[in-house]
Amino acid sequence: MTGTGPDDRRIDTTRPHPARVYDWFLGGKDNYPVDEELGRRITAIDAGAPKAARANRAFMRRAVRTLAEETGIRQFLDIGTGIPTEPNLHQIVQSVAPDARVVYVDNDPIVLAHANALLRGTPEGVTEYVQADARDPLAILRRAAEVLDLDRPVALSLIALLHFIADEDGAHDLVAGLLDALAPGSCLVLSTMTADFEPENVRRGIAAYAAGGVTLVARSHAEVGGFFKGLELLDPGIVPVGDWRPDTAPEGPVSLYGAVGRKP
Ligand code: SAH
Repeated sequence: MTGTGPDDRRIDTTRPHPARVYDWFLGGKDNYPVDEELGRRITAIDAGAPKAARANRAFMRRAVRTLAEETGIRQFLDIGTGIPTEPNLHQIVQSVAPDARVVYVDNDPIVLAHANALLRGTPEGVTEYVQADARDPLAILRRAAEVLDLDRPVALSLIALLHFIADEDGAHDLVAGLLDALAPGSCLVLSTMTADFEPENVRRGIAAYAAGGVTLVARSHAEVGGFFKGLELLDPGIVPVGDWRPDTAPEGPVSLYGAVGRKP
């Protein structure tokens, strides 16, 4: 478990943070009044926001379980991990394959503060936490390579991360840069926000986050497809997260696309 400096570890309770607002949507306790306030404001605009967070989390569970069960991938690099919420990714994949190796990455000091809960993996496997920024993929790859064998397939998961990174901030370059460094057979799993279905609610949600100092971007189906350039999409392609191989009846539509692609 590493940080990059004392300032990275300071928890700022004066403004909302994405990881903590998301924790509030999921009914967690690791958030502050500023986060709850923004969460309530978003919920007033879009009563479905907590449902979307749950649907996103369920997509993560189904997607990584599918990868562990069906592709045989045993190495996972999860960027934008969030505050621990059971079951966490390592618990899912290590229940399928106890020897699975998992590297978690987030840039929020609150995630670092709770990282111990992410490190209780199987004795046969490895779980590691790295505090780093997704916009510095080279640093992430360097640290990941200490735990993962990058000559073998890796599942790269960017779940509900990329809507916090604008195209101008290099969202596409960072995904391409990470995938470039990964071996054939590696997979990209992502979910990210879209305004394709509920444009007005999403626009107002983006404005509420912006008022809290948080950048949020919505992407169209075609724009999400851009992240999968050169990859083979697994069925059913790029769909609302609840429609990706559902195992229960979806709670209704959500404004997040999810998809899994394989590097040939
Ligand atoms: N992947 C989890 C959590 C999503 S919340 C899930 O889907 O359940 C988004 C997470 O991305 C937060 O924890 C936030 O701190 C993190 N994040 C946002 N921008 C980031 C960046 N530039 N680098 C690393 N992590 C980032």
